[in-house]
Order: sequence, then C-alpha cells, then structure tokens
Amino acid sequence: MTVHHHPSDELLTAFAGGTLDLGQHIAVATHLVGCPRCRTVVHAMEHVGGAVLADMPRSEMLPGSFEALERRLGEPIAANRPLPELPRRGFGDVGGLPPFLYGYPDSSWRWIAPKVHLRPIRLPQPSPTRVFLLRSSPGTKMIEHTHSGFEMTCVLSGSFTHAGGHFGPGDFDFGDGSVDHDVIIDSTDDCVCLVAMQGDLKLSGLIGRLLQPLIRM
Ligand SMILES: [Zn+2]
Repeated sequence: MTVHHHPSDELLTAFAGGTLDLGQHIAVATHLVGCPRCRTVVHAMEHVGGAVLADMPRSEMLPGSFEALERRLGEPIAANRPLPELPRRGFGDVGGLPPFLYGYPDSSWRWIAPKVHLRPIRLPQPSPTRVFLLRSSPGTKMIEHTHSGFEMTCVLSGSFTHAGGHFGPGDFDFGDGSVDHDVIIDSTDDCVCLVAMQGDLKLSGLIGRLLQPLIRM
C-alpha cells in the first residue's frame, strides 16, 4: 500500500498534543495505522513535547497539596458503572478497518443515496465530530457538495478521484467549506471510507436540492 495523501502537519501536531476530539482522533489514528511516514512524524512531535516538559523549571507545590492528596487516598472509591457489553468484533467484517475499531457497537449499512450506503460508528462519549463508514459502488458520481464544517476521509478499500487527485487505500482527504467536491468512484470494487464529519453537508445543483430532504447523514 503506497500512501500519497496525508493529514496536514497541523492535524498531526494536534493529534500528538491530544487536542483533537474523539471523532477527529479516530480519523487521524486510522490513517496512522497504515502510514509509517506520519507515525514517524507524530513520534518525533511527542518526543519534542516530552523534552520541552523535561526542560521546564520545577515549581513548588501549593501549601496543603500533600495533605489534600492524602485525604483523597483515604476516600472510598466510587463504584464504577459497569461498561455496556460491546459485541465482539462488530466491525471485523470491514476490510481495511484498523482492529482498534472492531469492538465499537455494531451497526448496519443503510441506504442514503443511489449506490451509496452509510454505517454509523457510535462513539462511547459525545463528540462534535460524527464518524461513519461510507460505501459507494464503482462508477458512482457523488453528488456535488460542500460542507458547513469539515470532513476527514480515510480510504479503507477501493478508490476515488476529485480535483485534488486520486485517493486509494491508506490515503487521507480533508475537505472544508472551501472545497466543492465532485467525486467519482473509479475502482472496480466498492470504495469504503471512514469519514469524520462536523457540520452539515450541502448538496448543490437541482438533483442535490431534490435529494437533500431524502439524505440523512
Ligand atoms: Zn501519512
């Protein structure tokens, strides 16, 4: 697998610094699993971050901090709520999906537009970014659209092309409101992508306006 399209340095920095929300984090992590180049960049950033912390001057503890810690240690531990039982390998049937996502609660594919199906990935905690799988049949021309937020796309299998280039397995695509997508699926098999999205999808053109009420993303 040769990866040609990577997340920006800003995104990788935010990933290394732990400032992405869960949905964004999952999209970048999905890319990192298949991209040694970006893993090296993130490791280097984490190393720099650790060195900066190590070089910072020591600061004195506030008066009473140690006593407060001792009191906390003596408190009974609140019973943890049992985690909901997760179905095993719920997403294990999706080729190209990293194993860290297999155990997320299973969901089924649903029709959202001709030749396009969506399968939501339900996150264990609220995130402003939604995550889902999108499966499109060969030859599908995605309806021209823009975003009110952003969209991160990780190709798991198959491929597509738009004005920004050709995207195959392992590639990462970032779209925001400034991008007018005109996407065509050019693989001979289905193209399956993991998508992390914020905001709404806006369909342009007459067909888009007719379909907008039918499509629920
Ligand atoms: Zn990369």
